[in-house]
This record gives sequence, C-alpha cells and structure tokens, in this order.
Amino acid sequence: MKLQLASHMGLCFGVQDALTMALDSVRGSTVHILGPLAHNPVIQDQLSRAGVQFIDKPDQAQEGTILITAHGMPGSIHEKARQTGLTIKDATCPLVQFAHRHLEQLVEEDYYPVIIGRRDHIEVQGMTRDLSSYSVVLAVSDIDSIPKVPRIGIVAQTTQPIERVHDLVDLIRSHSPESEVVFKDTVCQPTKRRQQAALKLASNSDVVVVIGGSRSNNTQQLTQSIARIQPRVHQVERAEELRPHWFDPHDTIGITAGTSTPPETIQAVVDKLRSWEQPTRVTSGSLLQAHHGAR
Ligand code: SF4
Repeated sequence: MKLQLASHMGLCFGVQDALTMALDSVRGSTVHILGPLAHNPVIQDQLSRAGVQFIDKPDQAQEGTILITAHGMPGSIHEKARQTGLTIKDATCPLVQFAHRHLEQLVEEDYYPVIIGRRDHIEVQGMTRDLSSYSVVLAVSDIDSIPKVPRIGIVAQTTQPIERVHDLVDLIRSHSPESEVVFKDTVCQPTKRRQQAALKLASNSDVVVVIGGSRSNNTQQLTQSIARIQPRVHQVERAEELRPHWFDPHDTIGITAGTSTPPETIQAVVDKLRSWEQPTRVTSGSLLQAHHGAR
C-alpha cells in the first residue's frame, strides 16, 4: 500500500489569514464572528475553545470586536456592523473582494447579474443580498430563471470548478442568443489548483480520500470531480471516520483536502492509514510542502 498526496491541497491563505486574525484578536478582546469562519468542524471547535462567539447578525454583539470572515459580507451588513460602534475586523479574502468588485462593476454597467454558485452559501449570499434582481445558477434548469434582457453579466462563486462554470456560461449564451453576455472569471486560483491536482491524483490512485467538512463547498466539489474518474472516493472530516474495508493491501491511496482543512487533520489521516498497513512511502513531498502549495 502506498500513500500519495495531492500537489496542492488543504488550508488556503484566505481561511488561514482569517483564522490567524480571529485567534490573535480573541487574546485581547471579546470576538464575535459573523457566520462560520470555515465550514470545517475542527476549525470551528478550535475557535469556540479559544472563546470566540459566533453570531448571525451584527446587533447580537454587545461589546468587543466583530470579525467578518473570508467569505465576505454585503455592504449593508458592513454598515450595520459599523453602526454598533464596536471594533470591526475584516478578514474578507482578497479573491472574494475581487469577485464582489467585478459583480458591482457589471451591475453599474447595466448588466443583469448572474452568479454561478450555491444559493445557500454564505459567499453567494454576501454577493447577492444587496441586489434588487439577479439569478443564481448551479443546475442547468436554473438557467430558465434568467429573464430576457439585453445584457447579462456573469461571475462565479470562488470555489466552483472552472469546467462547470465554463459549461454553464456556454449554456447561458445558447439560452439567450439575443443578449450580450459577459463572463468574469472569479473562481480563485487556490480552488483551480486544488481541482487540477485532485484530478491528477485520482487518475494515478486506486482509491482517494478527500478530507474536509461535510458542508464545505470546495471539499464537496473535489469529491464530485474525483468521483467522475475514480469511483472509489471517500470524504471524511476526521481520521476517526476512516474505515479499513475501504482499502486493499496493494492500493495506491491518494489524499487531498479542501481549502478549510487544517494540516493537523491531514496529518492525522496520514498517521492512521500508516498505522494500519505500514505503507511503503509517502510521495509528493512532505505535508509541509503540500501545505506550502496552498498559496
Ligand atoms: S477558497 Fe479562494 S476565495 Fe475562498 S478564502 Fe480561500 S483563497 Fe479566498
């Protein structure tokens, strides 16, 4: 049995920076985080143990600091947070800000906004909440919700697989042949690199373990992309969820992880697999190298 790690995987700089900001801030102040910092229970538990409080609305904070996560928030929520008079710390990922800016620009230029992504995801809600009209598209059937308008401007949730985004953009163009359709690619580089590395890993592995939160969009997307070429794929949040019957003695086991999965969780999965079969070696460098590739 052999273990191999994806060349790009695990915690991205956006989530890492937000986590560092939260943990640094909680040493000197009561910290309230608007929504989950990451869709990963290990990180959420770490923050709760450190004393961070999670809130849904700014006015639930009575003192201290309000922290906006890497997922970003709409302008109206920033304003409500400012009105509390508390200290605001903004950990919005610059690549989410990039997506917001492109969307705002398209709206200013009179394009009807279309967001390719998950309607219920905090990042997409942050992009759409202040818009008077828009469409969110994830399935092909969602395209019917786009009205007949002269100009359509499309952006994507940062963690969508770029191939799916391109397919949907093509379908939107076919659906609205009379419209001018503009697409701004706002899928982030860390997502693209992890997707690409996961597909390469899947093609060289007998079975793949994807590590990440069950509600993490980018982790789910990794699992779905891998499943298209390697049906033996298992998604786990923690090492304790691994099952010996998933693996055969001579398997090459590929390992990858979502952008909100901390290195400690990846290490625990590797250690558990090693303890079962004493695999001959781990390829693709050390975990340190794999994590370094996160940027
Ligand atoms: S997944 Fe991409 S956009 Fe989201 S926090 Fe990480 S780097 Fe930023």
